[in-house]
Amino acid sequence: MDLDLAGRSYVVTGASSGVGLATAALLLGEGAHVVACARDGDRLAAALRPLPRAQGARVVAGGCDVLDADGVAAFVASAAEELGGLDGVVNNAGRSLLAPAAETTREQWHEEFDLKIFGVLNTVRAAEPYLRRAAAPSVVNVNAILARQPESRLAATSAARAALLNLTRTLSADLAPIRVNSVCLGLVDTGQWRRRHEAAGVPDSYEEWTGALAADRGVALGRLGRAEEVAYPIVALLSPRASYITGASIDVGGGVARYV
Ligand code: NDP
Repeated sequence: MDLDLAGRSYVVTGASSGVGLATAALLLGEGAHVVACARDGDRLAAALRPLPRAQGARVVAGGCDVLDADGVAAFVASAAEELGGLDGVVNNAGRSLLAPAAETTREQWHEEFDLKIFGVLNTVRAAEPYLRRAAAPSVVNVNAILARQPESRLAATSAARAALLNLTRTLSADLAPIRVNSVCLGLVDTGQWRRRHEAAGVPDSYEEWTGALAADRGVALGRLGRAEEVAYPIVALLSPRASYITGASIDVGGGVARYV
């Protein structure tokens, strides 16, 4: 099926690795233009350079922190002018804070909520004037199953994820007809788990170690997800083919969620 993405332009934040890079790769393969940002512009450029592109697909990339509202506004405006508009945004930039509530400082609580809420709002506000003029505008917020299924060892991240899930529903009402949806991730192999495996210094192979991790967390499919397995549903939600889906959230967690 043709996803009807060719020639359209999408902002992808946090596009230098993992889910963001896989999403940029998929969009470029579909002939869409990608406006990519991450804080480290050199790493971003190096990651995007080798990606195959369908004919006509363009990349506008720049070092930009989604917490810097003025910086995001200037970057998004300049990219939109260069590409002649914008059709969507993937709010993907992020990280997690591994700490229980009692060991999370006040500053860390603020940082988590800043990133998950203002990292999204800054980018959406910058893109909104252009999305209002697009034929089939769509925003996808990359979130986590933690939003509905908190973990004590990720206290601030879980709470901030719940706030973002809530905000996404509000934005879907306030910004309509711009569609706004969430993709909620479980455990996705994006490099952070390889670093943790190395740091653990265990004799198990990476596959054995992640298989045990998946069993411990109750992942029905028994393994971590791959970044491209997350990119497909993100791109499907961006597509004009998903024209009647808004305010929805799709779990991409291999069956790790315990709620109904
Ligand atoms: P990665 O660590 O692989 O990539 C994160 C990307 O975000 C990088 O490009 C990073 O580049 C960028 N980034 C981080 N902070 C900022 C910022 N302030 N401004 C702009 N760019 C930023 O992450 P994943 O692919 O694993 O995760 C993608 C999203 O999915 C994140 O929001 C994450 O929290 C979420 N998620 C991931 C899970 C997983 O298991 N992998 C599980 C649940 C949710 P740079 O450092 O140069 O800025």
